[in-house]
Amino acid sequence: MLEAAPARTADLANRIKAHARVLGFSACGITTPEPPPHLSHFEKWLADGMHAGMHYLASAQARARRANTLLIPPRSQSIIMLATNYYQGEPPTPQPAAPHAKVARYAWNDDYHHTLLDRMHALHAFIEAACGEPVAQRMYADTGPLLERELAQRAGLGWIGKNTMLIQPRAGSWTLLSEILLAWPLPADQPFVADRCGSCTRCIDACPTQAILPDERRIDSRRCISYLTIEERGAITAELRPALQDWVFGCDICQDVCPWNERFAQATNDAAFLARDPLPEPGLEALLLSSAAQFSETYKRSPLKRAKRSGLARNAAVALGAQRAQAAQPALVFALQHDDDAGVRAHAAWALGQLGSAASQLALQAALASEQAEVVRGEIAAALQHCAAAAHTPTV
Ligand code: SF4
Ligand code: SF4
Repeated sequence: MLEAAPARTADLANRIKAHARVLGFSACGITTPEPPPHLSHFEKWLADGMHAGMHYLASAQARARRANTLLIPPRSQSIIMLATNYYQGEPPTPQPAAPHAKVARYAWNDDYHHTLLDRMHALHAFIEAACGEPVAQRMYADTGPLLERELAQRAGLGWIGKNTMLIQPRAGSWTLLSEILLAWPLPADQPFVADRCGSCTRCIDACPTQAILPDERRIDSRRCISYLTIEERGAITAELRPALQDWVFGCDICQDVCPWNERFAQATNDAAFLARDPLPEPGLEALLLSSAAQFSETYKRSPLKRAKRSGLARNAAVALGAQRAQAAQPALVFALQHDDDAGVRAHAAWALGQLGSAASQLALQAALASEQAEVVRGEIAAALQHCAAAAHTPTV
């Protein structure tokens, strides 16, 4: 590749940014492939086990590449950071009556990874045409071994808030990040150095599981509803289940309360991110009782499929228990007796314990007589104990 003259690269950078907007990206900045300055912060997060079951984050290759972006082929000379606004404003249809399921905003339409990759390929084609020669690249839509938010901050897009989201001063944090590592030199933008959270602690105060560590800009995934409802494949910690409320896929609370979102979030008219009408927010009982075939058909293009049918049915059981949805007792009993997945049966048992009705206790006792899986038997026993303790707790 010929060395590009500075004037040419500066002009190219401006044209890339303008074209990124044409393609639907809401912001574009450029940074260098230098090592991220706060790598040790991330390493401490890993060492403290806060990545929970996301072991891929701690693999030797991921850690090496995160520390040295030049290990990712091609050896990039610049990184184009892209933000995409997905804020939809209010949902298109009113929330159904409780009990209902809540889904994080970014999952209100089809899987965004394909959309962002398609747009990045279009941007790359524009770059190659402008350069007049092939330009090697690597693209990621939140899947790469990179400290994406830190790179976006270094590319001048915004600052990392106490909720660990990238916040843009005139757009808030309802944005998806993606990036193109480019084997072509481009002038880097100035980093965004201000921290505009100030003394605000709204996100920390609102988090129902105390997952945001005050003063550390870290989230303990082991307590975060987003992790628990999407990535966790085993049991959800019993202590945290009531706090999940009605969330079955992700959680938006620490963004919903952020004053920068309240003030600056702009509703998008990008069809790829508008909410489906109706929203993919199923009734909790329907989700709990869905078959594998129904689940595959309903969510085949949706981000919800990442949690898998067993994960979403488990989450639905937890939400029904957290909301003490007495009307869902037959559905929970059916799941306890018939679901093929031991995890779903175990969480249905917990939910019946939260309902605590005489019928729930009878169903739990009957299930204990026939259930073989130790994990489910343990949950049934704990649920019956919970019912017994609740019966002896005086009401005020
Ligand atoms: S996504 Fe929800 S659970 Fe996770 S840190 Fe934010 S408010 Fe807390
Ligand atoms: S809620 Fe307040 S502290 Fe949290 S990210 Fe927003 S501005 Fe920062």
